[in-house]
Amino acid sequence: MFSFVIPCYNEEPILHRFHKAITTVLQENNLPYELIFVNDGSKDRTVEILKEITEHDSRAHYVSFSRNFGKESAMLAGLNFSSGEAVMIMDADLQHPPFLIPQMVQAYRDGYDQVITKRTRKGESGIRTLFARLYYRLMNGMIDVMLTDGVGDFRLLSRRAVDALLSLKEYNRFSKGLFSWIGFREYVIEYENVRREQGKSKWSFGQLLNYAMDGLISFNNKPLRLAIYMGSFVTIADIFYILYTFIQILKNGVVVPGYFTIISSVGFLGGIQLISIGVIGEYIGRIYYESKKRPHYIIEEKKIQSQTKKRKNS
Ligand code: UDP
Ligand code: MG
Repeated sequence: MFSFVIPCYNEEPILHRFHKAITTVLQENNLPYELIFVNDGSKDRTVEILKEITEHDSRAHYVSFSRNFGKESAMLAGLNFSSGEAVMIMDADLQHPPFLIPQMVQAYRDGYDQVITKRTRKGESGIRTLFARLYYRLMNGMIDVMLTDGVGDFRLLSRRAVDALLSLKEYNRFSKGLFSWIGFREYVIEYENVRREQGKSKWSFGQLLNYAMDGLISFNNKPLRLAIYMGSFVTIADIFYILYTFIQILKNGVVVPGYFTIISSVGFLGGIQLISIGVIGEYIGRIYYESKKRPHYIIEEKKIQSQTKKRKNS
């Protein structure tokens, strides 16, 4: 059986269509399945619609959070409750085309543990594409795992890959990094980007920026080291500057107009110090969150059929 994990946040307008689209593909291809919808604290009627769907389709289940915990938590909950031999994670907005499913299953049967889909950035704003490009450049230079542009969360994971993911208990979850960290044989399928038809993207620019920071910080400590390198560079440059000025003073006596250089070096140093403190603060913040060992989500209600055995590890 294949489990589908579908995080939903304010997806009221499209859920019925999504359900129809995915079940059509699954039935046409004779794939045994279960659908696990995770309502991530939606403010619209998402949960009511999920109830309707699960009432009519015995293979559909839902878990509903007490508030919005974010897509990472929703995916984790879905993985926790999944019981299939392989699990596919899909967005509810039909941007992850269901017609790719048979191809993904085929790759899984060929022996791949992770089947990844990679989209083009067609139809996306130029600025977003540019930032994404820059981000992946920067990330891959800085972190220990490799990320690829256009690879999202639409993927198939074998049971052992899912178990590996679930064994990672960190509070700050950055899936793109975690998927890559667990390893296993990967197979990539490319597809053309699909525009969101209904509802709108939940990511504002600020949220994307935060997400980018999360990825950078939670995956290694190189930024910390970068701060040290930058600090050392500035300090050494400063020592040369002091020596140079000192010699100048011995030779020519004190020349008054040094205002510009003083202000600029103070400003520069101040900047470097603030960056370094910020980086350290980020790590301390992470330690703080991890040490609290809070659950990733709180479930308000759920409907998971009895044949779906609840997996214990939260
Ligand atoms: N989502 C979620 N919790 C959130 C934000 C989004 O579960 O806090 C879900 C959303 O319902 C959708 C998927 O994550 O199924 C992707 O969200 P979206 O389409 O807004 O992101 P984009 O496609 O723009 O990257
Ligand atoms: Mg989307």
